[in-house]
Amino acid sequence: MIVMDEDDCMVSVAKFYLEFTVGESCGKCTPCRIGNKRMLEILTRITEGKGTMDDIEHLKSLAATIKDTALCGLGQTSPNPVLSTIDNFYDEYVEHVKKHTCRAKQCKALLTYTVNPEKCKGCGACARNCPADAIMGDVRKPHVINPFKCIRCGMCQSRCRFDAIHVF
Ligand code: SF4
Ligand code: SF4
Ligand code: SF4
Repeated sequence: MIVMDEDDCMVSVAKFYLEFTVGESCGKCTPCRIGNKRMLEILTRITEGKGTMDDIEHLKSLAATIKDTALCGLGQTSPNPVLSTIDNFYDEYVEHVKKHTCRAKQCKALLTYTVNPEKCKGCGACARNCPADAIMGDVRKPHVINPFKCIRCGMCQSRCRFDAIHVF
């Protein structure tokens, strides 16, 4: 049994298990060797905000085919995390695809870091520690994050002593 909470992204969980299967596949049969790789590519697209609603349908049909046609237990069970997360957490898949958001804040590519000007003291700690030089602002003035330069490392949030950096 695996216990998860609201901090776990169900799309990422499915992707994690599929990465394991792809790594373990012996390559003898096509459904497992190729099919799982295609599913992993789709899941990766979705976690990067590049997925479509058709991708979710493709996942379901690929998963069903792999379950039916793979030669051994590894391939036959590999789609289970994908199917069960789609069945039980379909809303999360749709949010990734349509809103480009990850409610668990696990999909790095979908995160947006912003400075709350009400809380920001202009201390500059975030800007000094940003590896992408993505934060600008004068001393004692609210700072601003350039979303085009931000690489979503989270360093600024961990360095801000005033809880002024929020992630959505
Ligand atoms: S399903 Fe089994 S036999 Fe087929 S590629 Fe995967 S591990 Fe090999
Ligand atoms: S570390 Fe926090 S308070 Fe300091 S400039 Fe950055 S956002 Fe503002
Ligand atoms: S998340 Fe990282 S890259 Fe983005 S603004 Fe903060 S420190 Fe810079």
